[in-house]
Amino acid sequence: MTKVALVTGGTRGIGAAISVGLKNAGYTVAANYGGNDEAAQKFKADTGIAVFKWDVGDFAASEAGIKAVEAALGPVSVLVNNAGITRDAMLHKMTAEQWRQVVSVNLDSMFNMCRNVIDGMRERGHGRIINISSINGQKGQMGQTNYSAAKAGIIGFTKALAQETAKKGVTVNVICPGYIDTEMVQAVPPKVLEGIIATIPIGRLGKADEIAKMTVFLASEDAAFITGATMTVNGAQYIAG
Ligand code: NDP
Repeated sequence: MTKVALVTGGTRGIGAAISVGLKNAGYTVAANYGGNDEAAQKFKADTGIAVFKWDVGDFAASEAGIKAVEAALGPVSVLVNNAGITRDAMLHKMTAEQWRQVVSVNLDSMFNMCRNVIDGMRERGHGRIINISSINGQKGQMGQTNYSAAKAGIIGFTKALAQETAKKGVTVNVICPGYIDTEMVQAVPPKVLEGIIATIPIGRLGKADEIAKMTVFLASEDAAFITGATMTVNGAQYIAG
């Protein structure tokens, strides 16, 4: 029986590349998404990967969504918490709603998703949880107090859960991508983007597939001794200690 991998935000951008990478590595993949039905249906038609819609910021919806995935495909062995949003503003202009939305989708989702797969993984003595943070959770970014806080929170969450589950065969790691060429980054004004690329020593944006390859490795049996780790994939833009 093939292992089941669930990728949140798995229908577009980095998540879509991760879903396809895991499928090509032999997993049965479920790709969650939040609201863009058109993109999800196109992704499903292009890849044959099953898609499931729910808001990862909502605990009850995540519980029901994971039950639906497991009923359709089997127990989740690999969980990739990739769904994320930005709502940028300087703190002195940020609304409570911008704060709440970003913390909900990027950070509350860690609890909402992991809490609903962790019992099964512990019982089966095997699991892989891979969380997608960001370079901006490591270094902070002007205009992103909400996003930087949520993404830094993912790193702490990962380190704590890794310790809790190490003896149960469940590894928990976090990937911090640098700037990757996706719709999220294409939404940055061209002049600002030029300035960002100038600060990346490799001299280009990363590719979604480069994050997918790291994810597939962390999901594999070869990565069994890697847990609680922060994997930086950013072209040397920020070298974390
Ligand atoms: P995209 O905006 O391209 O895709 C986001 C995905 O997340 C979509 O599938 C979207 O679904 C889904 N999503 C959004 N909100 C929710 C929600 N509430 N519930 C479920 N799914 C949701 O993002 P990227 O591919 O650029 O980013 C992926 C991850 O990587 C994010 O966590 C991001 O913070 C992180 N990251 C990205 C970087 C980059 O350079 N792009 C750099 C560093 C980190 P739908 O299609 O329905 O909207």
